[in-house]
Amino acid sequence: MAPSRKDLITAFENAGYELWLVGGAVRDNLRGVSVDRRDYDYATSALPDSIITICESFRARTVTIGKRFGTIGIETDEGWCEVTTFRGESYCPGDRHPDVSFGHTIHEDLARRDFTINAIAENTITGERLDPFDGLADLSKKIIRTVGEPKERYQEDPLRILRGVRFVSELGFALEPTTQAGMTSTVESLRSLSQERITAELERLLVGSYPEQGLNLLSAIGALPIILPELAGMPDCEQNRFHQFDVWGHTVATVASIDCQENRRLRRWVALMHDLGKPSVRHVKKNGEWGFYRHEIVGAELTEELTQRLRLSKQDINTISLLVRRHMDRPTLNDARLVRRFMNRLDGHWRDMVALKRADNASHTYDDDEYHDGLEIACQRIEEEDSAALRAESPLDGHELMEICGRKPGFWIGRVKDRLSEMVLDGEIEPGDKGSATRIALQMFGRDQDSEGKS
Ligand code: ATP
Ligand code: MG
Repeated sequence: MAPSRKDLITAFENAGYELWLVGGAVRDNLRGVSVDRRDYDYATSALPDSIITICESFRARTVTIGKRFGTIGIETDEGWCEVTTFRGESYCPGDRHPDVSFGHTIHEDLARRDFTINAIAENTITGERLDPFDGLADLSKKIIRTVGEPKERYQEDPLRILRGVRFVSELGFALEPTTQAGMTSTVESLRSLSQERITAELERLLVGSYPEQGLNLLSAIGALPIILPELAGMPDCEQNRFHQFDVWGHTVATVASIDCQENRRLRRWVALMHDLGKPSVRHVKKNGEWGFYRHEIVGAELTEELTQRLRLSKQDINTISLLVRRHMDRPTLNDARLVRRFMNRLDGHWRDMVALKRADNASHTYDDDEYHDGLEIACQRIEEEDSAALRAESPLDGHELMEICGRKPGFWIGRVKDRLSEMVLDGEIEPGDKGSATRIALQMFGRDQDSEGKS
């Protein structure tokens, strides 16, 4: 059994080390919102080797997350928490950038943190709270402000730029003006970050509660051409009378319109990329308006390249590109064959597509709700019909049975299939469970052979 956080706190106290709760847990607690938090961050006076020794004393599982930076992950009964040795500053000779080294006090440690709202610490034993940079005041004003001079702090670690944008999207806070200006003037430094770190922050930005604010900020500080150059043609790409906004404004509104939790991450990636093809295919139509013929085809190709570059999983790459490619599909609702074809092409993702279509329509100048309601009902009906059919169906067809049982065609096939579909209907085997059906068919086959032998 993994230790509790209380056990952990006591163990550090008994070993004579300071242990302070820091980071998101303190911030969210002070904001008074209940966040389902399983990751607790602690700062300690113990060096990494001592942290590990303490954990060994009560057999807690640990992982070294970054020994150089002094972070050890520890498993507790609530999940994994991170304990990090106090950080301090050291200057490498000949290098104008400070390198991370271990510090001696919690004050030194807090000064190394990114934003004032993240630089509040709570002593785990005494409950004493330290807030040397007025993070509490910024929390109540809903402001994100760097600890120290913004430009310097971003140059030291450009990830802080993306973390700041991500916190805007997660918390809905505003950036203090110099905190934002510093992002703009150091934005080029984002080029030095690894793709994994960029993608991880982008994902968190994307699933935040205020993605509109986060995405607009990303564009405002000039980050799009650097970390999402594929999207850089969207701002100022004007559209036609069906649209309220340019392609970027429409994209941001589409992302923000996806407000359900179900498949939020996937749906928001699709929303972000659904009109990726528009800037490159834009042309003037006969009536003098902008047209975007085949933008979904070009967009799907660009999406595949972009999702690969972002190092999303193979499955994500395929699903996101597929949904982009098919986002203009519009089956006639009273033709079940066409609705079924629409669903088949989506490889099980019709609900994600209906959600995208609804979100896409949110900033159109026309209301398409009636069609989307109808599409959802039509798809649901087909899904129910199909699952009812599957429920009444033998998981194995005649050809499969002949192969499995090694027998020639005959009345026996009907008997076995009837028995198998009966068992599916009675819930004895799952619809489509070919494995169980094979076992049962073989048993029946054995019995049949016996009875045939006797007759
Ligand atoms: P959440 O856990 O909700 O993502 P968090 O603020 O706890 O938010 P973490 O990434 O867990 O974020 O980091 C914990 C704390 O470590 C932060 O609150 C911040 O004080 C500090 N921190 C993290 N990354 C940096 C960084 N790049 N520069 C400076 N301080 C950082
Ligand atoms: Mg955290």
